Amino acid sequence: MRVLGIETTCDETAAAVVSLAEDRTGPLAGATRGVVEANEILSQIAQHAAYGGVVPEIAARAHVEVIDRLVARALAKAGIALADVDGIAAAAGPGLIGGVIVGLTSAKALALVSGKPFIAVNHLEAHALTARLTDGIAFPYLLLLASGGHTQLIAVRGVGDYVKIGGTIDDAIGEAFDKVAKLLGLPYPGGPHVEEAARRGDPQRFHLPRPMLGRPRPDFSLSGLKTALRVEAERIAPLSEEDVCDLCASFQAAVTDTVVDRTRTALRDFQNVAARPTALVAAGGVAANQTMRRGLQRLATEVGLKLVTPPLELCGDNGAMIAWAGIERLRLGLIDGLDAPARARWPLDEGKRA
Ligand code: ATP
Ligand code: FE
Ligand code: MG
Repeated sequence: MRVLGIETTCDETAAAVVSLAEDRTGPLAGATRGVVEANEILSQIAQHAAYGGVVPEIAARAHVEVIDRLVARALAKAGIALADVDGIAAAAGPGLIGGVIVGLTSAKALALVSGKPFIAVNHLEAHALTARLTDGIAFPYLLLLASGGHTQLIAVRGVGDYVKIGGTIDDAIGEAFDKVAKLLGLPYPGGPHVEEAARRGDPQRFHLPRPMLGRPRPDFSLSGLKTALRVEAERIAPLSEEDVCDLCASFQAAVTDTVVDRTRTALRDFQNVAARPTALVAAGGVAANQTMRRGLQRLATEVGLKLVTPPLELCGDNGAMIAWAGIERLRLGLIDGLDAPARARWPLDEGKRA
């Protein structure tokens, strides 16, 4: 089985081809995972950087300009024709509606001309299932989904079966990284730049709060931490390069402590909604952060769970995760009509809460 996946919910246009592999031997014997045959991505970062964030109108136009070429390139890289895929998947949301419509409509058109099944994928579900593409893990598992728009702890019980255990009451973690970067004069998107600066900084120089630490519900709150950082930055301004690096390192350490604590709490709540997890999974753009990964690895070791973090190119938005979610759904016969709507909002748990 092989699926073409298209992603246009935010500021990257992406198209990928993924096929299904059943491992019969080796360490993954018995597991089902994916083989990425092509994973093409075009980032619009340069077009949005001047505005310090994604401009929806610019994003939608940019998707229109490149989507056809990108799909052709993905098929060429995979060495196949459209006739060789078993289905065509696109992210139908959540995201910036103009962009979502571009990818969704392209996929529907390709499905119509080729007569192949069409699959409307939830972008968050695609992030959630990526660990099965890469590592073939079984359900259920605990997912920490941390990106620019979302911060959630989710019990992944099966395809389409997600229970949200915790979330953020204000900023998403990626958003907090982006805002801190802006405050410190670092380029957009902030996450990678904050991490880069933090590498040269002292994480103990500033004592920033660890919001929600020890709270009984595994929720996040990041706006207080961001404010505390601003107060420190204003107190010592003007900032030297060393100050910026130390602030970044201190911020990253505070976020990591919070993430580890909240995830530990979520593992405790997990048992109320599912059997013992097979793994702890971190996904979304923030999962690219190495300090965060090390913190989560310590937690995983402490509780005797395997930590699964997708490779960097599959952490942020990409087409492979959409294609894989398409495979997961297609295998179960879950296909969609060409009238499937684009959705700006599309919660993964659709109302379920632990
Ligand atoms: P969503 O998936 O919620 O719709 P999105 O498209 O912004 O939102 P991703 O592309 O998965 O999400 O992630 C981008 C976010 O991840 C940005 O906020 C970015 O700053 C953050 N990020 C990327 N790399 C790192 C890093 N190394 N450390 C911290 N944050 C990072
Ligand atoms: Fe995303
Ligand atoms: Mg993105």
